[in-house]
Amino acid sequence: MVDGRVPTQSGQSARAVGGKQVGTMKSGYLYVLVHPSDPDLYKIGVTILHPEKRLAQHNRHYEEYAGQIVKETGQKWELKTYIAVADPYWAEAVFWGATGIADMPGGVTIEVRKMEWKWVQAGLEAVKKAGVRPGPRPRFGPVRNRAWMINQLEGSGITMIGHYRGLVTGVEFQCEKGHVFKESAGVVANLKLCPCCEGSLRVDKASRID
Ligand SMILES: [Zn+2]
Repeated sequence: MVDGRVPTQSGQSARAVGGKQVGTMKSGYLYVLVHPSDPDLYKIGVTILHPEKRLAQHNRHYEEYAGQIVKETGQKWELKTYIAVADPYWAEAVFWGATGIADMPGGVTIEVRKMEWKWVQAGLEAVKKAGVRPGPRPRFGPVRNRAWMINQLEGSGITMIGHYRGLVTGVEFQCEKGHVFKESAGVVANLKLCPCCEGSLRVDKASRID
């Protein structure tokens, strides 16, 4: 089931990738799932969990998009490959940048999509070479772009899965527990909280924006 798999040597080698200061970021994995219903259907994700564990979640959480496909087809996602990465959020940004999909109209709105294997390979190759993101502070003041947003989420356990359109616009995020929620990027950058995990604390705000 797993081919092209890169052996991981715990966090040690992952942290050494790029050889730069990595601060408090958590190392993790970028993984590629395939689905038996369609050879061109891929799910790309990053996680700090072991990819096998994340895979099990995707096959179980029917409320998420990947889980809906499992529910509809009765077939489960399979782990195609994964890479240990020092900086999961940066790896994700690099992956989509290399595929060119990030620049398409509509951008990367969901992590599950049809694409060619060669795009996936291009993304994986770029991630292997990428190391860690450039320094945490831009030289000329804060530029609140996608890279900035990804930097803000560092260590929060929250992944931005939607297409970033600035601070105010609602965008989809996913927490470590797999909750998917939509919130304005600036709010998430400030609070670094998943509204599902935090109970009713911010549910009103999340639903309003949606
Ligand atoms: Zn959550």
